[in-house]
Amino acid sequence: KFTPRVFSGIQPSGNLHLGNYLGALKRFVDMQGEDFETIYCMVDLHAITVWQDPARLREKTREVCAGFIAAGLDPEKSILFNQSQVAEHTQLAWIFNCIARMGWMQRMTQFKDKAGKNAQNASLGLFAYPALMAADILTYHATHVPVGEDQKQHLELTRDIAIKFNHDYGVDFFPVTEPVIGGPAPRVMNLRDGSRKMSSSDPSDMTRINMTDDADGIAKKIRKAKTDPDALPSETDGLSERPEARNLINIYAALNDQTAEQVLAEVGGKQFGEFKPMLAELAVAKLAPISTEMARLMGEEAEIDRILARGAEKARAIAAPILQQTYDIVGM
Ligand code: ADP
Repeated sequence: KFTPRVFSGIQPSGNLHLGNYLGALKRFVDMQGEDFETIYCMVDLHAITVWQDPARLREKTREVCAGFIAAGLDPEKSILFNQSQVAEHTQLAWIFNCIARMGWMQRMTQFKDKAGKNAQNASLGLFAYPALMAADILTYHATHVPVGEDQKQHLELTRDIAIKFNHDYGVDFFPVTEPVIGGPAPRVMNLRDGSRKMSSSDPSDMTRINMTDDADGIAKKIRKAKTDPDALPSETDGLSERPEARNLINIYAALNDQTAEQVLAEVGGKQFGEFKPMLAELAVAKLAPISTEMARLMGEEAEIDRILARGAEKARAIAAPILQQTYDIVGM
């Protein structure tokens, strides 16, 4: 009943980092092809749930778009656009605000993490964010959403909203979207603290590898990454109590399109002193061509703006009729 369609997005709020690349962007590229219509978005409306400097937001939006293209997304094959340019997202989000329940939203762990101790002072937008995310996805009737593991709970909420809408109005209108979480590194961890995810919002730049870091910067961050004194095991069981070691192995595997088992079969027995330079070399080999191309594209502002404007037109052509039908169902 539903056209196989992929939707996902990245916030233009900070530096694109290795977690975004392995958890999301690289997998966006893998899904671009014959099997799916692919729609990828710079989610600027999500970014402003915490304050953003306007000039920087504008620049970061272009930078994420440049990152998408440099990583291999082709604007002729995928729809690339900026969320705020397609008003249907916010229009549908309002309807979903009226479908979602307060209790559902209160269970969202990302809100608790991001709002911190002072939740009373968080924006209403930060709280309502998952309903907008559901609208981002469902205004295209997207069937598949590639994301990192940190987004799992939000995707379950998206499914709950679709099911409740369909039930409340006695229709079979919104698809129950499949999350596509996978690959060897669905959750890339912070390089200095193996219990937290790598994130653009971490104040310390040493905790993450940015897509725009140069070769020396990447090598230095990997050299300084927290590890333990033991040699690497030759099987994944040996990583169970070693989160930092597991993280570096998963990163290596994901960058090299291997499984963690395959990597350990090769590097088992090595010390980190030997493995870290191998990882740094691999990371530079995979990321440097992307960051070079990103830098080139960032010099072509008008071209990026043209791609985003065309993408928004194509996105709207799908979203507008779905919103109209939603209004009809709701009685508006
Ligand atoms: P951030 O968490 O850095 O602000 P976003 O919220 O914009 O990034 O997430 C964009 C995409 O990148 C999402 O699909 C998210 O799941 C993925 N992602 C973000 N951080 C990581 C990570 N550390 N490991 C794997 N995927 C991640």
